Amino acid sequence: MLKKDKSPKLTAKFIETRKAELTKRRQEILRELKADTVQVADNDYNAKFVDYGDKDDENAAEVATFEKNLSLEKTLEVSLYNVNKAIKKIDEGNYGLCEKCDKPITPERLEAFPSATSCMDCKKKSL
Ligand SMILES: [Zn+2]
Repeated sequence: MLKKDKSPKLTAKFIETRKAELTKRRQEILRELKADTVQVADNDYNAKFVDYGDKDDENAAEVATFEKNLSLEKTLEVSLYNVNKAIKKIDEGNYGLCEKCDKPITPERLEAFPSATSCMDCKKKSL
């Protein structure tokens, strides 16, 4: 019987390099989150509200900063989620497999986006 081999042909060195990139990216994301948000729980952050003062222009600046932090928070949270997931996949030995069709993601795509969770075909379909 032919055993179906689903593991992508990625070398240990390739995966090691991606993991180093992902770990570095995770540190960057956490640093940005720390600067602009308040951690409310594990992997959950709220945008920081900075108090500039009570004058109209200060209040307007507070709202602008909060909105900026809010959109940043969402982006960072999604990035962190994907990076953590990719690192977990490396640890579990199934890094580089598309979550939707189970086929290997091309090394070129993983090199460009180490936290990619779907192959190019599935990505295109979901757009
Ligand atoms: Zn796919």
